[in-house]
Amino acid sequence: MTTYPSDSTRLKTAKLIEEWFLATGRDLPWRTALPHSRGCSPWGIMVSEFMLQQTPVVRVLPVWEAWMKRWPTPADLAAEPASEAVRAWGRLGYPRRAQRLHAAAVAIVEKHDGAVPDTREALQALPGVGTYTSAAIAAFAFGRRESVVDTNIRRVHARLFTGSALPAPSFTAAEARLAEELLPEDRAESVTWNAAVMELGALVCTARSPKCEECPVAAECAWLAAGRPDPEYTPKGQSWHGTDRQVRGAMMAVLREAGAPVPRELFLARPEGWDTGAVTGAALDSGLDSGPGSGTVDVTWSAGDGVFRTLDALHRLQAPADQLERCLAGLLTDRLATESDAGVTL
Ligand code: SF4
Repeated sequence: MTTYPSDSTRLKTAKLIEEWFLATGRDLPWRTALPHSRGCSPWGIMVSEFMLQQTPVVRVLPVWEAWMKRWPTPADLAAEPASEAVRAWGRLGYPRRAQRLHAAAVAIVEKHDGAVPDTREALQALPGVGTYTSAAIAAFAFGRRESVVDTNIRRVHARLFTGSALPAPSFTAAEARLAEELLPEDRAESVTWNAAVMELGALVCTARSPKCEECPVAAECAWLAAGRPDPEYTPKGQSWHGTDRQVRGAMMAVLREAGAPVPRELFLARPEGWDTGAVTGAALDSGLDSGPGSGTVDVTWSAGDGVFRTLDALHRLQAPADQLERCLAGLLTDRLATESDAGVTL
């Protein structure tokens, strides 16, 4: 059950977390809530929010830097095809985010004269921008007082104020009310508060091993005071090995690397007689075993070493033929890839 903190507890906790954040928060290039912030355009903040949706900061940083150098404004991105956005997305995962970000850039150019809109309503009308992302952009890019609640913030709220090891499996109305209660009235303070609690969840109050001994609010923490009780449910693990996500990711790596269409057979079976240890040349010219019982398909095809390395990585997964078929079909259906007589490409 949610216990709402008293005003004095809330204020004391907020002060401790904000002081901790201002002293130790990471100086991320898209972060504007720190006094020594380098500043960032609303577009840079929007790009970071898309990338951070399901990917940790450490993996996002180099891709974000390269992205902002290449496409410093929405118009720069909108001027290129969506396939370039998918290619530049690299290994961040969930590449449909790249397509949606590209579509959002196009909408910003067409409907907002190339400037990221500053209201929740206008932001949420953009492709790929939902409740959380619109709140985050409005708060961090435009200094609006918004209740920004990501998984890190939910976890901190659950432990600190309700004494639970984990928040509910899905966001509840009680959590939303608690987050709203906790949000400082002052606009600038509310932005810092959102960033500070998020950072506490990312660095100290982590999902698997909270560092309570380093926590600035350990003395106020309901979960710690209760003796760190076990969670009431087992969270679903983020399975990866052997999953369609892993196979699709390996296929996307091939497509990003290849500058030209790749024959579909190469995705579906390892080329016959292809000794992976000898893939050093720049050309492949061999028959391809297209799978059990389906005979041999002759394909002649040339590409650089990098493409062969990514194909090798794909087939090292030893995914069954039906899974390879399904994943390739999924990429085509999701329009992350297109197919012509010449093969598959971004
Ligand atoms: S004391 Fe531990 S559980 Fe409580 S908020 Fe701090 S890190 Fe999280």
